[in-house]
Amino acid sequence: MSRSTTTPTNFIRQIVEEDLVNRKYNLIRTRFPPEPNGYLHIGHAKSICLNFGIAEDYQGQCNLRFDDTNPIKENIEFIDSIKRDVQWLGFQWYGNVRYASDFFEEQHNYAIELIKKGLAYVDELSPDLIRQYRGTLRLAGTNSPYRSRGVEENLRLFSDMRKGKFPEGAACLRAKIDMSSSFMVLRDPVLYRIKFVEHHQTGYQWCIYPMYDFAHCISDAIEGITHSLCTLEFQDNRRLYNWVLDNISISTRPKQYEFSRLNIEYTVMSKRQLQLLVTQNLVDGWDDPRMPTISGMRRRGYTPESIREFCRRIGVTKQDNLVEMEALESCVREHLNEHALRAMAVLRPILIHITNLPKDYEEIIYMQYHPNKPSMGIREVPFTNEIYIDKSDFLENKIKNYKRLILGEEVRLRNAYIIKAEKLEKDNEGNIICLYCSCDLKTLNKKPHDGRTVKGVIHWVSAKYSLPAEFRLYEKLFICSNPLKDENLCMSFNPNSLVIQEGFVELSLKTAQVSLSYQFEREGYFCLDSIYSMSNKLVFNRTISLRNRWLGDKYANNA
Ligand code: ATP
Ligand code: MG
Repeated sequence: MSRSTTTPTNFIRQIVEEDLVNRKYNLIRTRFPPEPNGYLHIGHAKSICLNFGIAEDYQGQCNLRFDDTNPIKENIEFIDSIKRDVQWLGFQWYGNVRYASDFFEEQHNYAIELIKKGLAYVDELSPDLIRQYRGTLRLAGTNSPYRSRGVEENLRLFSDMRKGKFPEGAACLRAKIDMSSSFMVLRDPVLYRIKFVEHHQTGYQWCIYPMYDFAHCISDAIEGITHSLCTLEFQDNRRLYNWVLDNISISTRPKQYEFSRLNIEYTVMSKRQLQLLVTQNLVDGWDDPRMPTISGMRRRGYTPESIREFCRRIGVTKQDNLVEMEALESCVREHLNEHALRAMAVLRPILIHITNLPKDYEEIIYMQYHPNKPSMGIREVPFTNEIYIDKSDFLENKIKNYKRLILGEEVRLRNAYIIKAEKLEKDNEGNIICLYCSCDLKTLNKKPHDGRTVKGVIHWVSAKYSLPAEFRLYEKLFICSNPLKDENLCMSFNPNSLVIQEGFVELSLKTAQVSLSYQFEREGYFCLDSIYSMSNKLVFNRTISLRNRWLGDKYANNA
């Protein structure tokens, strides 16, 4: 796959380059290790672009390894979605998909090795007591009374754990490190716990499951990972990562490096929080177009190219940061501006009768699919004596600087004629039902002969030859920039994050495809919704509005 832009360097790439120059490694191996307990979000995309990007750029290999050590929260749906998302982003893992559970047997054997070395013991303190004994940041922990068990007893008890002789929570295997370490992770961390649950890969083969910290470093080493890249919250865990690898007989030696997580304003970036939005039915599933998930963004019409470009621009550092949503949006806009097909859609229709055209008037107007790319082709747009324009494009009374249709004045219909609003019809409540306009038939894509100037241009569709469509307009998911600061996440959910409009699209959209993006003139970039759109009912998601030329224009997008 060719990448259009080169990735700027960062401290991790510099380490990789040095390791290659110094011949520390001949082959760079990275991995992306998601827990299959939710759908991937844009934060994961940062990690994916980093791991797969390094493998690609340095002719290395990147594995996809599911960190499946907690079967209670995991399932196949998540696994499938993660594979799909990684591939959609444009990456392919090396060889087969891997699972930490592929190595359960090896991990178990290394645990036995630690027991034999007197470096691990079976603890029978309850989980609560283990927590209490661990101490605090200021207070050293206390040794468990079971800490000084002999090797033989530990081997027997660990074997009993595996055989299912203990109930859940009655025993666990702990590393014997240092209960007074200033690193909490080194205060005899739990390595194995008992869980009588079915595992999506190993069925009922195991009732003891390794903890992440134990399984992860061993999986990395077995796979020959050279650079194990993770986010900053694992900084302290690096000590444990190294302790395990120092104390088991494994020859490969991966090194862990940490970088800062991606956070974006007005959204959340944690599977747990996203899951909450799903279970509370605040959104329409993990792939709701408002979600910062890869699947939500795909459904909304974001392109893999724009997400990769965003990841390239934000870079990789150790500084915590909160990125503005606009940074992602401008990548999406730039890509869609190049590739989206142009079309016209009227989101808030108001009917116009053109009074000086016969009832059966029909004319085909030819328009380019892209103003700067004739190669994208030409579409046919029927023009008839009844058309729809957008409600926000008409005003009864003149207002300064308003450049659209005003009663008694003229405006140009995009790629068509100049019309003049002559009269309007209202219902009993004063709502406008329709407008009567005249049309200057000498102005098809031409200036008027008499030199008069008509400034505004508005979009339109034929009333007879257009297709009804639903438009789903999205706004920020939360009303505050850092929603996690709120005690109750749901309280800051934006109730206006989805607005639905019923209108019309031009006839060329009859063949609209889910995989394509469309720029509806002046309204933004749209795509067909992959779930709600049917052949008899088109449903479009607004991917993003246009760069807001109308910013500060209070008439824009008013219903
Ligand atoms: P979450 O809190 O959303 O569940 P996680 O870190 O538990 O995230 P994992 O499935 O364990 O999710 O993550 C897989 C990889 O993606 C890890 O290496 C993790 O560090 C990285 N990752 C997760 N979230 C982010 C983020 N916001 N920015 C960058 N990398 C991330
Ligand atoms: Mg996690």
